[in-house]
Amino acid sequence: MKPSIAVIGAGLAGLTLARELAGQAEVTLFEKARGLGGRMSTRRQDDRQWDHGAQFFTARSRAFRQLLAPHIAAGTVAEWHPNLTTLSPEKPPFKRPWFEPHYVAVPGMNALLKAMAAGQEVRLQTRVAHLRRRPDGWQLFDEQDGDLGTFDRVVSSAPLPQTRELLGPHLAEPDALAPYAMAPCYALLLAVDAAALPAWDAARVNHAPLRWIAFNHRLPGRGPAGSVVAHSTPEWAREHLEHDQDWVQQQLTESFLALTGLPVRAIAGARLHRWRYALSNEPAEPGEGYVLDPQTGLAACGDWCLGGRVEAAFLSGRALARALSRRP
Ligand SMILES: Cc1cc2nc3c(=O)[nH]c(=O)nc-3n(C[C@H](O)[C@H](O)[C@H](O)COP(=O)(O)OP(=O)(O)OC[C@H]3O[C@@H](n4cnc5c(N)ncnc54)[C@H](O)[C@@H]3O)c2cc1C
Repeated sequence: MKPSIAVIGAGLAGLTLARELAGQAEVTLFEKARGLGGRMSTRRQDDRQWDHGAQFFTARSRAFRQLLAPHIAAGTVAEWHPNLTTLSPEKPPFKRPWFEPHYVAVPGMNALLKAMAAGQEVRLQTRVAHLRRRPDGWQLFDEQDGDLGTFDRVVSSAPLPQTRELLGPHLAEPDALAPYAMAPCYALLLAVDAAALPAWDAARVNHAPLRWIAFNHRLPGRGPAGSVVAHSTPEWAREHLEHDQDWVQQQLTESFLALTGLPVRAIAGARLHRWRYALSNEPAEPGEGYVLDPQTGLAACGDWCLGGRVEAAFLSGRALARALSRRP
């Protein structure tokens, strides 16, 4: 009989793991959100949309390029050639080249995950709240203490703090999650008058609360209604994480207006998204790209194992799947 595996989180890492283990194990994915996306989510309102997490990704490994190839052929992933600039509060902007291909999913960042989830058992709107060891495996529970089933193995692909909460108390090696860290980020989502925007499509920002601005509607395959995504620096987000959220939105909006020179009347609407667990640096000792506790069979994967990028999430899920295939 095939082993049963519960995967907590259906972001790119969890979906990659499930896809790689297809045929070898009975995999069930549990996802707390209503839809797929994780930190590659897309928000929609009226005729506008915002990719408020990852805005693009690169593909440096052959394995990731192989995953992307059929999606590029199908039009679910496209190369992005933005007119990119660099902005600083007190310096004139200067054009910034990109030296490697950058990709986006089409028509929204979550399109890649939706395509990868085809044929997989994904239980949406199901938050795994805790687990319990039983003689026949691991039993999972939701927030109402409802039984989600008993599995031979449990893998968490949730962001690091949530993985710590779920797996930490059960790991035989308590320091297994110690080398990793994650940082927060604010995303400011603006509805704007597209005609009022400058000619550049996206900007890296230096020396400001913001570090990235993109005119999201100019990404491939998006509609024409003016939609801006602006990301704060992780340092600024950490410093102001618990501040009043209206104040945070105001500060970031003012920074956006000062950097772009736009009049306030160009903004038709604004929303703020607080990513408590957004980004991670490459760990000092990257190890194998996943966490596997041999005594308990518990495991974890995700971008934080390898360094906070879309491709890292894919590589971590794939590396863990290969390790699990070697020890069923
Ligand atoms: C603001 C921002 C900007 C970024 N910019 C870029 C960029 O430009 N380029 C780039 O390459 N990367 C970027 N990233 C990083 C990129 O989004 C991530 O590396 C990647 O999406 C991580 O995928 P993952 O599967 O590891 O995690 P996630 O996408 O976070 O997936 C984990 C999933 O677990 C679910 N979950 C959590 N807890 C539970 C639970 N208890 N029960 C059930 N489900 C649970 C979550 O809902 C989520 O869907 C950015 C991220 C953010 C937030």
